[in-house]
Amino acid sequence: MFERLSGRLGEVFERLTKRGALGEGDVDEALREVRVALLEADVALPVVKSFVAKVRTRAVGAEVLRSVTPGQMVIKIVNDQLVEMLGGESAGLSLAAVPPVPIMMVGLQGSGKTTSTAKIAKRLTDREKKKVLMASLDTRRPAAQEQLKILGEQAGIATLPIIAGQMPVDIAKRALQAARLQGFDVVMLDTAGRLHVDEALMAEVAAVHAATQPAEVLLVADALTGQDAVNVAEQFKSRAGVTGIVLTRMDGDGRGGAALSMRAITGCPIKLLGTGEKLDALEAFHPDRIANRILGMGDVVSLVEKAAESIEQEEAERLAEQFEKGHFDLNDLAQQLRQMRKMGGIEGLMGMLPGVGKMKKQMAAANVDERILVRQEAMIQSMTAKERRRPEIIAASRKRRIAAGSGTTVQDVNRLLKQHKQMATMMKKVKKLGKKGVMRAGLS
Ligand code: GDP
Repeated sequence: MFERLSGRLGEVFERLTKRGALGEGDVDEALREVRVALLEADVALPVVKSFVAKVRTRAVGAEVLRSVTPGQMVIKIVNDQLVEMLGGESAGLSLAAVPPVPIMMVGLQGSGKTTSTAKIAKRLTDREKKKVLMASLDTRRPAAQEQLKILGEQAGIATLPIIAGQMPVDIAKRALQAARLQGFDVVMLDTAGRLHVDEALMAEVAAVHAATQPAEVLLVADALTGQDAVNVAEQFKSRAGVTGIVLTRMDGDGRGGAALSMRAITGCPIKLLGTGEKLDALEAFHPDRIANRILGMGDVVSLVEKAAESIEQEEAERLAEQFEKGHFDLNDLAQQLRQMRKMGGIEGLMGMLPGVGKMKKQMAAANVDERILVRQEAMIQSMTAKERRRPEIIAASRKRRIAAGSGTTVQDVNRLLKQHKQMATMMKKVKKLGKKGVMRAGLS
């Protein structure tokens, strides 16, 4: 469902993470593209506007300036904001009331309401060992009652016997009474749908609501209808006391906008997703997993979180000040190596980045692993304080001493010094970006 959006955002972020330093202009440019991508995915304009504004505030504020990896930090901010837009925590069904607990299903005709009723009943039966009774209140289409009965037979769920000519409110009352007498835990009430929201439909829904006092009113909406689904939800919310949304046809190739703006516009949590015609094609809605699916960023998010945990701000600031002077000695390098090890070493870091499985194998083959970090630290430890501050004095005899002291070779020492030199040169270049630039680029 989110392939296109995911692809678009992926391109934006790839460009972003390729740059070391990020200025306000870079963030703005990226956010313009994010905005277009969301609008193309049919996310409602007010939702897009507020989303982009929130990301911008955080991205050009202190968070990115002080971050270790600016590009990834922006991805993390987008991710967090996306999770918030989708409702933050995942919301389950509330079934805590005294049984039988009534769950009322509402929605337009063809949205997948009857199918979802049976799916939920099956899920509650299989996973939560609930005894569920289903009743169709759709008296306008006799076939609807029949359809629920057949689904019940397929799934092994009890349905209320059909009495021709009975009115919706009476069927609902009869269902509750039967459930009480027969010890059912949950009663699923599948109300009638219409092609459009109209007064008669709303009056009927309100009457059933008043007669049954449902613990949950689940609006079933078709994700493929995009913003229309959101409009329908708004209308039902104001009249039917909707407590949660079931978005169906998430398996289709819609643009995903309904799923993304539903919560922000209606304030109602999305609780379940329909992902196919089969009765087990129902998933709980987890905002964080959806965000992950959309951003397709492997585990960049947890990488940034881990980095934020392990890199103490003071150390980072001290380093930044040194970089500002254009100075980067071997003490600083040793500190960076320690940070890398804290974050799980090269392998740990690589494992969290998307698409590096292959590279990881090559690295393993080349024997590049955590031991290198340890050895590099050992070499620095074998140096005198003066050597660490002024690596240029390390001539051949000193190199031999350091190699012997750290159990490495002169070539290893040369490699380390070369690596340090490259980094020091980069720091000098970075210096001209000023302190802010240093905070962004120097540590990336
Ligand atoms: P109702 O009129 O709202 O009760 O809609 P139905 O439950 O009868 O569903 C209408 C059609 O949509 C049926 O053919 C269902 O199999 C199909 N359907 C329902 N939910 C989903 C879903 O999540 N994915 C797909 N692909 N089809 C669904």
